[in-house]
Amino acid sequence: MRVDFAFLASAGEGTACVEGLGPVVSHCAGQTPGEVFHALGEPDVVTVERERVDLELLRGLTEFCAVYPNPDAVAACGDRFGEKRLLDSAGIASAPYRIAQSAQDVPAAATQLGLPVVVKNPTEGYDGKQQWHILDEQQLQAFTEQNPPGAWLVESRIAFEREISLIAARSPNGDVKVYPPTENRHHEGILITSVAPADGLEERIAQTGAQNIRTLLETMNYVGVMAMECFVTADSLLVNELAPRVHNSGHWTMNGDVTSQFENHLRAILGLPLGATSGNQHYGMINLLGDYDHPELLTALSADAHLHDYNKSPAPRRKRGHINVSSQDRDAVLTELARHHDRLYG
Ligand code: ATP
Ligand code: MG
Ligand code: MG
Repeated sequence: MRVDFAFLASAGEGTACVEGLGPVVSHCAGQTPGEVFHALGEPDVVTVERERVDLELLRGLTEFCAVYPNPDAVAACGDRFGEKRLLDSAGIASAPYRIAQSAQDVPAAATQLGLPVVVKNPTEGYDGKQQWHILDEQQLQAFTEQNPPGAWLVESRIAFEREISLIAARSPNGDVKVYPPTENRHHEGILITSVAPADGLEERIAQTGAQNIRTLLETMNYVGVMAMECFVTADSLLVNELAPRVHNSGHWTMNGDVTSQFENHLRAILGLPLGATSGNQHYGMINLLGDYDHPELLTALSADAHLHDYNKSPAPRRKRGHINVSSQDRDAVLTELARHHDRLYG
């Protein structure tokens, strides 16, 4: 049996491009789902590699082939209001929040929640862009004066102890495999390092995380890989956001003795058995941001480390690659990450 699949990605307002594994096929805005299906080579399955895709087109494609994850799941995870609705209805804890219909409604929401708050654009932004950490009245006033257009998610700013993510894959037959919780460190909203399995995580918290992602996958009848970012506080696990796709905090799966999240996504959407999500090693990942010296990095890699370069042009704080490290010795992983961290970010 041969099952063809294609990736669908949108390239901005009114246009979309379609990428297969192999030649890239693009289409013009206004093409019907049938025309896009044909341009894709009439695949059996279409999947997405980002949440901000043309949802109408994605829905239209379901007339022609399987679309995994389903468009409703992609829509819910691409909109912070939708995510909150989903989490609330599934009884999964997240940061307390209010929806402000405009920037002018943010102060009332912030007063109800109490400062500090984080104000987030519901549909735009990544790497901490399009969000404001408002610590005091002055910053609140500055935000309303700036008056950025649209509705806003206003969230309590959580004094978390650590951040973790859960990544899992679900097949059409309902099989689910969850990777071990990953501990993530961010700097100014950008992921810098991930280490798995997260060390010293309370068993209760780890189980809640695994159960939450299973519940979400089942509630949405989700097929493919999904990521769930969380805050760990002194006594609870709060879900921060969801990604209906492979995730940066799961890039450590690309090396070592587990099945890569990319492979498990393809296995899931193709209905193949899922690969191993837990192994006998410790795993680490450090993102390469902005400008860095590629040859110098290569010569500095240890035996257990792998450089992944995305061939992207340099831009300040742009994610342009990452280094993976895996070893049976957790300290060796941490030491290698720290060494690269010092060299890259001093
Ligand atoms: P990503 O690149 O992960 O998609 P994003 O721009 O969508 O990021 P979030 O993940 O919501 O934004 O936030 C980025 C980071 O900002 C979080 O990982 C966390 O460190 C911090 N942050 C976000 N929301 C809160 C909150 N309510 N309380 C405390 N810190 C927060
Ligand atoms: Mg995000
Ligand atoms: Mg995030």
